[in-house]
Amino acid sequence: MPDNPHPVLLEQLKAHLEYFAESGIDGFAPKAVSGALKLAASVRDKSKSRAPRPQQPAPSTQTSLFAESGPASVRDSSLEEVRDDLGDCRRCKLCQDRTHIVFGSGNPQARLVFVGEGPGADEDRQGLPFVGRAGQLLTRMIEAIQMRRDEVYICNVVKCRPPGNRTPQEEEVAACSPFLVRQLAVLQPEVVCCLGLTAAQTLLQVRTPIGRLRGKIHSFRGARLVATYHPAYLLRNPAAKRDVWEDLKKIRSLLSSS
Ligand code: SF4
Repeated sequence: MPDNPHPVLLEQLKAHLEYFAESGIDGFAPKAVSGALKLAASVRDKSKSRAPRPQQPAPSTQTSLFAESGPASVRDSSLEEVRDDLGDCRRCKLCQDRTHIVFGSGNPQARLVFVGEGPGADEDRQGLPFVGRAGQLLTRMIEAIQMRRDEVYICNVVKCRPPGNRTPQEEEVAACSPFLVRQLAVLQPEVVCCLGLTAAQTLLQVRTPIGRLRGKIHSFRGARLVATYHPAYLLRNPAAKRDVWEDLKKIRSLLSSS
């Protein structure tokens, strides 16, 4: 281990080890710990020295999912523009029971964007994505790859809570996902991480099960896309954390190599 590891790096290493411990892994070689600290330092240095990326125009070609939607053909210059256009949205029936529209939050210059399915009860109450138990686990997942939550951007496929946390229906996804695509077009991340089936199937426009989508690197409009299990699923199935850790390592390596 370096003589004077930075306190922030130690915090991140702690989160990293906690994630492993929760995954049932309880032994670490000293070399691996020292390697993790070095890697953390290099990722942080890279992200500090990274110049703000110029905003590029949104791709002009829309996929079939988005072709029928007017808003998706607009070229936005900021997330605020997308949010303004969403307004007090009543484009689908999920508006009926919502407390807040949960648009998304995080760093508008994020290299990494997480996309979940939709808000839950805590998120609906607070108007912010991933703030409940699953959100806390997502924070630990982010920290396990030596990043901070405020470095990434987090949003969902649908912006209003489906009643009883049910899976959003096809027409709800069709109504809301053009706004997700517009968010991603503004953000222009290097890596998109889809959390769960709905996000992965929506962005990749496939019906393939999540178990077959994860473990690979896909493409989405110039970004690399990695699909993994939703943190809420991990809370119910902790054994899947090992698979998620493999997916997180892929993300870390994509970000480290660019
Ligand atoms: S889920 Fe999306 S499309 Fe439906 S009402 Fe909410 S913001 Fe509008």
